[in-house]
Amino acid sequence: MLDYGCDERFIDRQYIENLLESAKGASDEEVTEILDKADRFEGLNHHEVAVLLQTEKPEFIERIFEIAGKIKRHIYGDRIVMFAPLYVSDYCVNKCAYCGFRCDHNFQRRKLTMDEVREEVRILESMGHKRLAVEAGEDPVNCPIEYIEEVLRTIYDMKFQNGEIRRVNVNIAATTVENYRRLKKVGIGTYILFQETYHQPTYERLHLAGPKRDYWYHTTAFDRAQLGGIDDVGGGVLFGLYDYKFEVLGLMLHNEHLEKRFGTGFHTISVPRIREADGADISVARYVPTDDEFLKLVAIIRLAVPFTGMIISTRESYEMRKKLISIGISQMSGGSCVGVGGYSKHEENVPQFEVADDRPTGEVIEWLMDEGLIPSFCTACYRKGRTGDRFMSLAKSGNIKNVCLPNALMTLCEYAQDYGNERFREKAEKLIEKHIPEIQNDKVRQLVIDNVKRIKAGERDLYI
Ligand code: SF4
Ligand code: SF4
Repeated sequence: MLDYGCDERFIDRQYIENLLESAKGASDEEVTEILDKADRFEGLNHHEVAVLLQTEKPEFIERIFEIAGKIKRHIYGDRIVMFAPLYVSDYCVNKCAYCGFRCDHNFQRRKLTMDEVREEVRILESMGHKRLAVEAGEDPVNCPIEYIEEVLRTIYDMKFQNGEIRRVNVNIAATTVENYRRLKKVGIGTYILFQETYHQPTYERLHLAGPKRDYWYHTTAFDRAQLGGIDDVGGGVLFGLYDYKFEVLGLMLHNEHLEKRFGTGFHTISVPRIREADGADISVARYVPTDDEFLKLVAIIRLAVPFTGMIISTRESYEMRKKLISIGISQMSGGSCVGVGGYSKHEENVPQFEVADDRPTGEVIEWLMDEGLIPSFCTACYRKGRTGDRFMSLAKSGNIKNVCLPNALMTLCEYAQDYGNERFREKAEKLIEKHIPEIQNDKVRQLVIDNVKRIKAGERDLYI
């Protein structure tokens, strides 16, 4: 018998539908009060989120974006944390209608050998990446938990002239408490799992076969991860499968459940929007949010959970990524290959979905800098033990940016020394000099000035 690790059915479809219905009647005064509350960075409850989702008035939508931008600047500052996905296996026993890796798609599947993992990681490190997200389909025979453990150990064991991969997040199928415990033991960063859709009938219609068909086993995965000792979990929805308003409220309910039960909700929320993929049946995506709706929903999430990091992948175009950063995104991938072995053998790679922003990592990084942002390769919290509720209390006190900015500047300096040419180094130096005075604490500011000198002199991996 399956152990769900949670008896509570915390996603109540009827409750969400009622919320959305009742929110339609909100008065202008009520919307204004909710926006004022969001403006004080107090977050929002379900009803308030529902009201904003139902708001159509241009002046209110404009204010939602304004506040989202303010929260973004105040809590996260100008840094954007960089990561890259590493697909290690596309074997999958599930039949998710929207995915190119579904079990009935006939293509040459593969799983990386440890030598191939090393080769992919070598390439990723040579692009400057320090933070990876390991991705694999679900297949207990071809891709058992022992394999994922070995992948993590292999990655963490690698040392390069310029450092190493310092944090490995993992995105694998819902599994058992025991397996999560094993992942914790080998040093998982965040455990990431997308819900795909919180709407159970849609979920069951699109997950045609395989263990993932069990809506509640999938939905309670973070409970089991927490029970297994993983206190950083990252949620997300595949926007397009069902009404985005329902999905945003689903995310809120899930987050609240985790907060109540474990004292900490999502460490991050990802907002993938469905894309074409070879072998996938994209016609099932009947609810793809328009660009305007997508921007609005991201901004509302930013208002609702101001202290939760938000992640955007290369599914979105360069233009959309630029807009999304300004209203809440704090973490992004760059130079991504979304197929197994894609970094070393690009031509043979079968991608899970189409990438919209296919610029190389270096170009994305330089673009961020030209936008006045600070690309950050920071992995400090995980390595300092600032995870789970320790992380959240720092975030909620507003003090997180006092470590994010210094770490962003030090890691950018390191990146410039190791991967940049002279022109890039000059550009990075100007950016670093411009931002150092923004560090409020005198001691920390001086430490960063000293550490930048030490990094230029050859020291590496300095962080607070
Ligand atoms: Fe397999 Fe994940 Fe694709 Fe579903 S979404 S078919 S579980 S790889
Ligand atoms: Fe992320 Fe912590 Fe680094 Fe800030 S200091 S960028 S929250 S790891």
